[in-house]
Amino acid sequence: MSSADDLIDNNNQEETPSSSSSKRPRLSEEEEEERGGDDDDDESVSIDLDSLDRESLMALLTQISASQNIPLSVLLQSLNQQPFDDDDDDDEDIEYPFGTVPTNLQQVAEFIQSDQCQRILVLAGAGMSVAAGIPDYRSENGFYATLSAHQLTATPQQQAAIQQDKTFALDQHLFLENPLPCLELKRDFILGVHEQRWKPTLAHRFCALLAQQHSHKLVRWYTQNIDGLEDLSTLGEKVVHVHGTMSQADCAHCGARQDTAAFHQHVKTHIKDVTGHDPTAPTTSQPMRCSHCHQPGVKPAIVLFRSSLPKVFFERLPQDLPDIDLLLILGTSLRVAPANSIVWRVPSTCLRVVINREPVGQHLGIRHSNSRRDFHAAGDCEHVVLELMEHLGWLSLLEDCVDDLPPSSAQLLRDKLNEKKQQQSQECGKQ
Ligand SMILES: [Zn+2]
Repeated sequence: MSSADDLIDNNNQEETPSSSSSKRPRLSEEEEEERGGDDDDDESVSIDLDSLDRESLMALLTQISASQNIPLSVLLQSLNQQPFDDDDDDDEDIEYPFGTVPTNLQQVAEFIQSDQCQRILVLAGAGMSVAAGIPDYRSENGFYATLSAHQLTATPQQQAAIQQDKTFALDQHLFLENPLPCLELKRDFILGVHEQRWKPTLAHRFCALLAQQHSHKLVRWYTQNIDGLEDLSTLGEKVVHVHGTMSQADCAHCGARQDTAAFHQHVKTHIKDVTGHDPTAPTTSQPMRCSHCHQPGVKPAIVLFRSSLPKVFFERLPQDLPDIDLLLILGTSLRVAPANSIVWRVPSTCLRVVINREPVGQHLGIRHSNSRRDFHAAGDCEHVVLELMEHLGWLSLLEDCVDDLPPSSAQLLRDKLNEKKQQQSQECGKQ
């Protein structure tokens, strides 16, 4: 069961639409619908928990956890539920498609290439974009923390609420009233994404190559990142942006997709720069009106706090989960529900490979020792995926993209390619 540390859930790096607001959110309309009623003032849910199987119960709890901002572990404790067995006894009869759990990346690569591995899911988080050099907006000393709310265009009451909790600037309900704090806060990030200021990392290349080399095996790449570094022109529907993406725009009122180029132009010329870096920025802000409903609610197509996740997540995931043989967990703290529910919703025969500096996901049932199905490839995301790609024989496929990588990743790849060449020439010399 979870330790006390697991309950402290607010320090993750991913954009966290539902979990880091300190306010207890009301359910959105869609979630009210899913609850099957308009019992606005009744916070209690009457469900016969004993009538639910484990999977349904966990799905329900995950949903409540996300929408009500209550850590899953707290809900489980309150129900006296143990989400995951603490011993391996039940696993003894299971025949795993990978045989015994890998102990190194070469064995992971061999499984990926084997006929036993037919269906792969990727679950990715902020760790895979770190090497891209995106500023750490959300850390203790990051932009959001150091910004004074009084710089934002808002009423004194709104400024006071934002000053108390910066994530309130990204709140759906505030946005509908006044979209400017969100747009001003996100201006630099929106323009950076539009200008392609940040380049895809080796981890992004790895997922793209997985889609290219094993198109039928890669079922889906679920990403919690909103930086838009996935190449959608080649990946298309293989990618699900669980928390939306900065690279598109939509309307907070009617949901209509907006012209992205027009939105970026508007942000550049009509939203003031609170970072003080852009001398060409205007000194006052104007919201952008929707091309469909004409309300002033155009925003980056990200999931704001207290709003629902994209429908596509709830539609695709149940279809994608059956018969998954391999779940690759890339650079995520696994702190954010409901994306993290993928970890325990994949079949019990699925190999789960965690590529992350620290061991994560113990509160979701991942075991980092004595596991028959979990392997932790510890280390920096870029280093680990590069080694994995080497074992997959993909290094030559990366040669052309060296100059399109972030500087540190490019150097890493150059060193690896040189090392490989030296090895090869030494081998030739011996023969
Ligand atoms: Zn609209």
